[in-house]
Amino acid sequence: SESDRKISLDLYEFHKDIMIAAKNNLITCKKNEVLEFLARRDLNDDLINEFDIGYLDSLDKLSSILKKYDKDIVKSSGLFYEQDGFFSFKLKNRLLFPIKNLREKVVGFSGRVTDDSLPKYINSPETQIFSKRKILYNLDKTKKHLSGEVKVLYVVEGYMDVIRMWQYGIKNVVSPMGTALTEDHVSLLKRYADEVVLLFDGDEAGKNAAMRSLDVFLKNSFIPFVVFLNKGEDPDSFLQKFGKEKFLKILDNKYDLFELIIKRMFKKSINNVNLKTKYLKILQSKLVLIKDELLKESYIEKISKIFGIDPQIFKKGVDFSTAKRI
Ligand code: ATP
Ligand code: MN
Ligand code: MN
Ligand code: MN
Repeated sequence: SESDRKISLDLYEFHKDIMIAAKNNLITCKKNEVLEFLARRDLNDDLINEFDIGYLDSLDKLSSILKKYDKDIVKSSGLFYEQDGFFSFKLKNRLLFPIKNLREKVVGFSGRVTDDSLPKYINSPETQIFSKRKILYNLDKTKKHLSGEVKVLYVVEGYMDVIRMWQYGIKNVVSPMGTALTEDHVSLLKRYADEVVLLFDGDEAGKNAAMRSLDVFLKNSFIPFVVFLNKGEDPDSFLQKFGKEKFLKILDNKYDLFELIIKRMFKKSINNVNLKTKYLKILQSKLVLIKDELLKESYIEKISKIFGIDPQIFKKGVDFSTAKRI
């Protein structure tokens, strides 16, 4: 409605004002713990400017902004607690990463502690203008850097991963701000890229998240590649420790996610006919998710080849599963 639209416009302005105030404050505030964090994580002025990173250690810095806006706007941003008629900022004393939509409007923030306390990050809650499952961090910036015949997008877990890759000149990178990739994320990825490479953290959580994301890609008829980092590293830490050349070598070593999963199933069931049959049925049910007939056909070929079975017989099961669903 008209009034919703007005609220959204005010919310964009409000977030932008906070972003600017926080950025100015970060540059001028000389708090030791902040400076040490910036130095430790090699966040230099260029990166701070490029990503509009900020910090707010007191509400004084926001007082003129808070006066400028309707109380309802302040409340609906979800960034403040209200106590005895006063507002307090939920992300106070945290490094602020603004989250922007495709039109480069600030729609939310993520705040990181500058020490080891928990929770490490706190995000804006879901609001009228911010829905985490629909936003990819850095897509607004990266979309100008996608060129060439095959547009490639790297998908990383975190803000610092995006920022570090950008610093090293790898600018085609976005983050779902965690490992939960939604259908909305995947359709965005598909809209902007021809090829997606999942580059999650080198831990169990990262690996599992990559594997788990297969179905959501299949539903969009879009198959990603996946790359595995050394144990304990994420793109940020890897680049810091080993540099760009080694990183690029890792990126070269990418696997088709669906094919990887098919091959794993084959290897696991090599001496067990029952397990093999079970896996083939699982694969048939996965193929049903694919709407694009050409893509489906090519994976029917792949699976039949890897498992050494007759594609026509295997395909019947896929058609049967489809029929069952309808
Ligand atoms: P850093 O490099 O800043 O220490 P990270 O990005 O490597 O942190 P991970 O634990 O790998 O941290 O988490 C990946 C991403 O998941 C984060 O960058 C953030 O987007 C999201 N995330 C992690 N923890 C939280 C949390 N408690 N609340 C909201 N989002 C979170
Ligand atoms: Mn992680
Ligand atoms: Mn990290
Ligand atoms: Mn990480």
